[in-house]
Amino acid sequence: MLVIGGFVLYSKWRPKGFEEVVGQEPIVTTLRNALSTDQVAHAYLFSGPRGTGKTTTARILAKAINCEYLNNGDPCNQCSNCNSINEDVAFDLIEMDAASNRGIDDVRDLRERIAFSPSVMKHKVYLLDEVHMLTTGAFNALLKTLEEPPPYAIFVLATTELHQVPATIVSRCQRFDFRRVPNDAIVQRLAFIAKEEGCTISEESLGVIARQSRGGMRDAITMFEQVVALFGLTPTVEEVNNMLGIIEDDRTNELANALVSDDLVRALELSREVSDDGLDLTKFTKATINILRERLLVTARSKDVDLIGLSKLSRIIANLAATDFRRDPSDAIPLEVACATALIIEPENSSANSVQKLDTS
Ligand SMILES: [Zn+2]
Repeated sequence: MLVIGGFVLYSKWRPKGFEEVVGQEPIVTTLRNALSTDQVAHAYLFSGPRGTGKTTTARILAKAINCEYLNNGDPCNQCSNCNSINEDVAFDLIEMDAASNRGIDDVRDLRERIAFSPSVMKHKVYLLDEVHMLTTGAFNALLKTLEEPPPYAIFVLATTELHQVPATIVSRCQRFDFRRVPNDAIVQRLAFIAKEEGCTISEESLGVIARQSRGGMRDAITMFEQVVALFGLTPTVEEVNNMLGIIEDDRTNELANALVSDDLVRALELSREVSDDGLDLTKFTKATINILRERLLVTARSKDVDLIGLSKLSRIIANLAATDFRRDPSDAIPLEVACATALIIEPENSSANSVQKLDTS
């Protein structure tokens, strides 16, 4: 039976070995090689979006480097060192969240603790999460430590905001960029967890969750857990959509098409229809924006970038994103105004066309 409570599934299924880390194969391979050839660096910088496996990988690295039975770079998860890290009781793995310990005193404290050699394990591992949050003074103190690290110390700095980490720190570390986990990899992992937990859920539903998680495995597992908490072990795709606030309505596509083809009349008609049907326009607009965002990405990626198309798409998205339905989520006016503003404001584009269409309607 599934136990529900926020992060239960996430903790339960958090990868314990490198082979379970999803979507970060190049990083995992490099770390395994370093471990099996005894060439582990003194400082690593893990950057990337939230929930992509940075601290999880750091913990596996901490185990592997201290494991008594390291096998091809993988920790055994059975020796006392592996166990103490798995059970969160290891003295020699020091985790610090820089978001709440950002001052120079905290880093001084860290430096003092670094001065003591490991109590049980061979290596002391310092995991500094959200390292970009440190103050300048704290960064300087950290830099001194990174310049002359004690031989037993391994530093793993993790950040979602690489550009906010000083170059002097970055250059002292071996850097790994964690990428967003591809949707199919998330679906696969969720399907595995669902099966193990006795949950019957369609691949389509898992796809919906994966897309909503935007490449963050942790968010995906948390969403899956919420779905099961609400709807039990056999949730339908409608229930999943409902919980995640997703609107499955073809008119989102129609509205996107109308806007892209400068058909203001159709856009206004659709806004009114959807509002008359009592749909939540916040969700409807968001779904339309997501369709347009996909097109923006496709356009931006194409070989001969269509700049006019790009600027038009971004103008439409910006206008839709600025809509405010807080007063009444079924009121069509903000959406109508956004459509009109997106298509009429700039005279050099196809505004004449739109105005003409308005005149004749
Ligand atoms: Zn071990």
